Amino acid sequence: MSTPGVTPLGKIMKDKGRHSDYEQFDYGVLKEKGLPQGISKLDDSFKGPQNIDPSKLDYSDSSYITTSQPCRYDANGNATGVEGETTECLIRGSIKRIIASTPGIGSPPPRPPSIKYRIVDTHNKGLGVFATEDIAAGELILAERPIMIVPANMPSLRGKELAGMSSSQVKQVELADSEVIAASAVDRLQPHRKEAFFKLANSHLHDGSGPIIGRIRTNGFGQDWVGKSDVQDMYCIVCDEGSRLNHSCSPNSQQKFDVRTFSMQFRAVRPIKKGEEITYSYCDVHEVASVRAQKLVRYDVVCDCKACANPTTSDPNRLKAQEWIQRMKSCRFADFSLPTSTTVSLLLTGLRLFESEGLESMLTFGQILFTLMKTYAAKGDVENTQVYARRYNKWLLASMGDCFEEDDVENAFGLVASARLVQGMKGMWTSGGARKAKKAGKS
Ligand SMILES: [Zn+2]
Repeated sequence: MSTPGVTPLGKIMKDKGRHSDYEQFDYGVLKEKGLPQGISKLDDSFKGPQNIDPSKLDYSDSSYITTSQPCRYDANGNATGVEGETTECLIRGSIKRIIASTPGIGSPPPRPPSIKYRIVDTHNKGLGVFATEDIAAGELILAERPIMIVPANMPSLRGKELAGMSSSQVKQVELADSEVIAASAVDRLQPHRKEAFFKLANSHLHDGSGPIIGRIRTNGFGQDWVGKSDVQDMYCIVCDEGSRLNHSCSPNSQQKFDVRTFSMQFRAVRPIKKGEEITYSYCDVHEVASVRAQKLVRYDVVCDCKACANPTTSDPNRLKAQEWIQRMKSCRFADFSLPTSTTVSLLLTGLRLFESEGLESMLTFGQILFTLMKTYAAKGDVENTQVYARRYNKWLLASMGDCFEEDDVENAFGLVASARLVQGMKGMWTSGGARKAKKAGKS
């Protein structure tokens, strides 16, 4: 018997085996819509609980629960004592424990010092977010409490009922059942949040997705909660304003979910000019245009960014970016087997490639910045070590949502001190060599 108010969904999901990633949640277009003959709509008893005890932590790892995470602060971070923007969560017991045991959970979300964006009609791709002022790299653009968090994949609860069905019919059942399950979170939304949710775009109108799952699939940000590839830990985070950011293959912003403040935060990965559209990527940006186009079909996106408009120029660069991913994985430049001047020159070439393609959001870009800082330190080039320590620190902020204080950057990575040491040693060598040369001249 299951715990009252707890859906035994997880157990069934376990039986389904492992899925590689969030992108597996792609059913394509189904020939038949609705439930196959003889299968009735999921019973209400499968829905999540309506009221759980917020202080109770020991829900089973293999069970899903619905729970609310209220925000009791105003826009200035002052405590209001009332529930403001609440996030509805459909999560497993293990994730609830992670959330509840996070130090400082429920802290006020950070707010940008001023709002530098507006949401307007783009005329060709629905609403979009545009900068109303220049925005610096690393700057917080927008932070919001998500509308809801739901599993990225919700296989059917039917078990033996699915025996003998075709894969297409199983998908029909999964889509129909996940619509009912997700509704348990949507039903609990505050009225204004529910309204915001249903105002979101739905690009899954013709593939068998219901209005709820369609919106989740269109707008959800993938969140691998505990860093495992097990599909049970993959969630979709649906935002209100954040979900209005359109796609670009050269995105100028990066998003990160912060559990402590329970907020989705969007930061600039490079300087953004006033009037420029603020974008992030819905697919892997290192792929060539044709592969990206294929991945974007599910979002109903036909990308017209510079890289997609000029694949003959951009594709060779994206292939080079793929080489850089492998190169930085193998740490070829981190072992200093090459002369440092050669390493610096290669790294700067890589850096320019990523900048020219607008790929600053990639992990490899951060790795290049870090390795440059390290290599300049090994050369004893204090000035450039400082430059790249600051740039890497900003990249950390934009990508990870956290970084060292500006005053602390020099000490943070320990490399500026190393650069000074090497510089000092070089100086000693140079002055020692000069003395020797002087002596030789005298004799
Ligand atoms: Zn594009």
